[in-house]
Amino acid sequence: MKTNTKNHHPKLGVVSLGCPKALVDSERIMTHLRAEGYSFSATHEGADAVIVNTCGFLDSAKEESLAAIGDAMKENGKVIVTGCMGAEPEQIEAKYPNVLAITGPHKYEEVISAVHKAVPPMHDPYTDLVPEQGLKLTPRHYAYLKISEGCNNRCSFCIIPALRGDLVSRPINQILYEAEKLAKAGVKELLVISQDTSAYGIDIKYAESKYRDQIWKAKFYDLCEALSQFGIWVRLHYVYPYPHVDQVLPLMNEGKILPYLDIPFQHASPSVLKNMRRPVHQEKTANRIHTWKQACPDLTLRSTFIVGFPGETEEEFQFLLDWLEDVQLDRVGCFKYEPVDGAKANDLGLDEIPDEVKQERWERFMAVQQAISTKKLAAKVGTIQDVIIDAVDEGEDAGGADGRTKADAPEIDGRIYLRNASHVKQGDIVQVKVEDSDEYDLFGVPVE
Ligand code: SF4
Repeated sequence: MKTNTKNHHPKLGVVSLGCPKALVDSERIMTHLRAEGYSFSATHEGADAVIVNTCGFLDSAKEESLAAIGDAMKENGKVIVTGCMGAEPEQIEAKYPNVLAITGPHKYEEVISAVHKAVPPMHDPYTDLVPEQGLKLTPRHYAYLKISEGCNNRCSFCIIPALRGDLVSRPINQILYEAEKLAKAGVKELLVISQDTSAYGIDIKYAESKYRDQIWKAKFYDLCEALSQFGIWVRLHYVYPYPHVDQVLPLMNEGKILPYLDIPFQHASPSVLKNMRRPVHQEKTANRIHTWKQACPDLTLRSTFIVGFPGETEEEFQFLLDWLEDVQLDRVGCFKYEPVDGAKANDLGLDEIPDEVKQERWERFMAVQQAISTKKLAAKVGTIQDVIIDAVDEGEDAGGADGRTKADAPEIDGRIYLRNASHVKQGDIVQVKVEDSDEYDLFGVPVE
């Protein structure tokens, strides 16, 4: 989003027509905009743009709405239309082809985006509580980018859908404006998150929206492609191995997004996966992983697993270990099953696994993965890697720094520790020669 360069806080005119629901919509839009520093004008002439919240319930209400749009066009000229009549934009477009944007009822976010585009908010560092790029709990150089809320799956161990409801995807232009703002604020790495990233846009039927003169679809591939335009690292989390995920591998090969996929497989045994009600038929997943690695040799695969799920037999657990040996994932987290209150898995009538068995399986699982990880990291010794710097050592350790390669997400994956790095700063991306490795981490030196 552009920052307003005018020396006054932008002013908007608002016309709210129709029923109390429409009034509440107007209030929500106005509250949001007020929090961003907009003020409101009593006249159209005194405003930088006008929002008309329309009603389309009866023909007479439509007439009234069209007349209100007409007044705003005549007296101001920069008009954003929302509300019930916006659900049938043809009538408005036919009469007023120059309105800036038309959105349907309850589309607060689209109205806000249209306002931002027509009259960018003015950021005042002395009075605004929130920095221009929003509040971030992460260091300045990386940020989480949430693309949707909720989930349409019903995994039996998980209560997220009960807590957060079904999938609700954000419009793609809103995500892109946020990404742009973050990139401008100095973020070098975007971590795309949701409950099910590859399902992005299904709920809104891949709705199209406009970002900087281009129309984008709210679709997994389009989102990846669109995010690549900011020239910063883009890392995908919580992706499911649906067939359409194959399409983004070329983007990884072209360096547009990081060759990294975080896919929570949770298990490999078909019978356990069935009890887990997992959304994907994982029997074919091993083949898929081998194909991906051929298509994108630099691909890093990260995953999480649950051991000790109710009813898990020794054979099923052994199947998981064999699968792990076969697919050779790069980064893996493992949890011992916990019966979360309200999870369906507790009512499936399956035998609970005793704690000591869970612990023993967890240790065996970690031993297998540790050997794989050690071998994979050792193969990187001698290579040159791009490294994003997370922290620079001070005091007695000055000269050292630590960061992550493209294969490592913050918080969950390993790190690379650098020596002779007194010239690097947090957030720099530098080339590093890998000199050594252990089970989870690398050690190296910046290349001059
Ligand atoms: S574990 Fe399953 S139900 Fe829970 S959020 Fe993930 S995909 Fe959705």
